[in-house]
Amino acid sequence: MPIPFNKPFIPWFSFRYLIGGALSGTIAGNGKYTKKCHAFFEKRFGFAKVLMTTSCSDALEMTALLCRIEPGDEVIMPSFTFMSTANAFLVRGAKVVFADTLADIPNIDPAEIEKLITPKTKAVVVVHYSGIACEMDRIMDIAQRHGLFVVEDAAHAVDSYHNGRPLGSIGHFGTFSFHETKNIISGEGGLLMVNDQEFAMRAEILWEKGTNRAAFYRGEIDKYGWVDIGSSFLPSDAVAAFLFAQIERFDRIQSARKKLWWNYHAMLKPLEEKGYLKCPVVPGFATVNGNLFYITVSSGEMRDSLLAFLKSRGISALFHYLPLHSSPYFSAKHDGRELPNTDRFSASILRLPFYNSLSKRQVKLVVSRINEYFLRSI
Ligand SMILES: *Cc1c(COP(=O)(O)O)cnc(C)c1O
Repeated sequence: MPIPFNKPFIPWFSFRYLIGGALSGTIAGNGKYTKKCHAFFEKRFGFAKVLMTTSCSDALEMTALLCRIEPGDEVIMPSFTFMSTANAFLVRGAKVVFADTLADIPNIDPAEIEKLITPKTKAVVVVHYSGIACEMDRIMDIAQRHGLFVVEDAAHAVDSYHNGRPLGSIGHFGTFSFHETKNIISGEGGLLMVNDQEFAMRAEILWEKGTNRAAFYRGEIDKYGWVDIGSSFLPSDAVAAFLFAQIERFDRIQSARKKLWWNYHAMLKPLEEKGYLKCPVVPGFATVNGNLFYITVSSGEMRDSLLAFLKSRGISALFHYLPLHSSPYFSAKHDGRELPNTDRFSASILRLPFYNSLSKRQVKLVVSRINEYFLRSI
C-alpha cells in the first residue's frame, strides 16, 4: 500500500456543522461558528484578539496594512519560507530583505537580522519552521531597540511554544494557516492574532472592508460606515463550521501528531548516530507541535536520490522551499548576498509522510526504507 504525504483528517460531524450552519440562515462571515472559533483561540491560548481569515496569506496581508507598510519601507524576513510571507509586503510596495537561517535550524538567524537593519527598516517577519520556535527573546530585543514591528508567520506553529508562551502571541502580530496540509484544517483558511490592543480595532475594520460593522453588531455604535481602507478578509461561516469540528478534536489531533513526530524521531535516531542523516534540532526554549517531520542529508544529490528511492517504494516524501531570494520572480531584485544556510537547507531537507492516521507500523516501514537506501548506497 503506497503511503501518501498527507491525508486530510475530516471528522464526520464536520458535515453536520456545515449543513446545520447553512440551514440556520446565516452562512456569511462573522457568524456563529466564526465566533466559536475565535472564542476557542482566545481562551485556549490566551490570545488578545483573533480574527479568522480566508487564508494565512490574507492574515499576512492584514499585518502589512496594520504596520502601515508604504513603498520604500524595508521588511526583513527569511528566504527559506513560503512566498506568501513576502507577497504580503511586496503588494504594499515594501522592499523585502532576505536574511539567512541559522546553521543548524532552518529558522531566521537573529544576528543576520541585526546586520540588515537600516533607517528604512519597519518590520521583521519570522517563520517558526515546522512549528519549532525562532529565538524570540533575541528577536524581540533587537526589534525593541530599533523600534520595529515583529510579525510571526506561525502557519506551522499552532499549539507550539517559546518558553511557555504560545507562538503567534509574542510579536505584534501572528498569523496561522488552516490549509489542508497544516495541523488543523478548513481546506483554505487562516487566523490573525493581534497581540497589541492598540491595533485590535483597526484590524477588525480592515477585516470588514474598511467598515466598523463588527462594532455595530456588538451594539457599540448605532450605525456603521466606511471609515478606513480594507478588504473582505473574513471567511464564510461555512469555513469556520468546518474548522470548528477540528477544534472539537483538537487535543486528539495534537496528541496523535506529536506522538507521530516522536515516533519518527526515536526510530531515526540510530540512523542519525551512524551519521547518515540529521533529525530536527529542538532548542530548550522550543516545543514540538507535530506539524511536519523533516530530515536533512549531506547533499542535494543524496536528497534527490533518496526522494526517488522512496517514491519507487510507494512512499511520498517531499523537499521544501526553493529559496525566495533566488526564485525566478525575485532573483533580479535580490542584492546579491549569498545565503549559504538557506541554500543548504533547501537542497538537503526531506519531509516525510505526516498525517493523523499514519500508524506506527507505517512509520516503521518508512524508516526501514530509508535504512535500506543507506545500506544500498554505502
Ligand atoms: C502554508 C503557509 C503559508 C500560507 O498559508 P495559506 O493559509 O495557504 O495562505 C504561509 N507561510 C507559511 C510558512 C506556510 O507554511
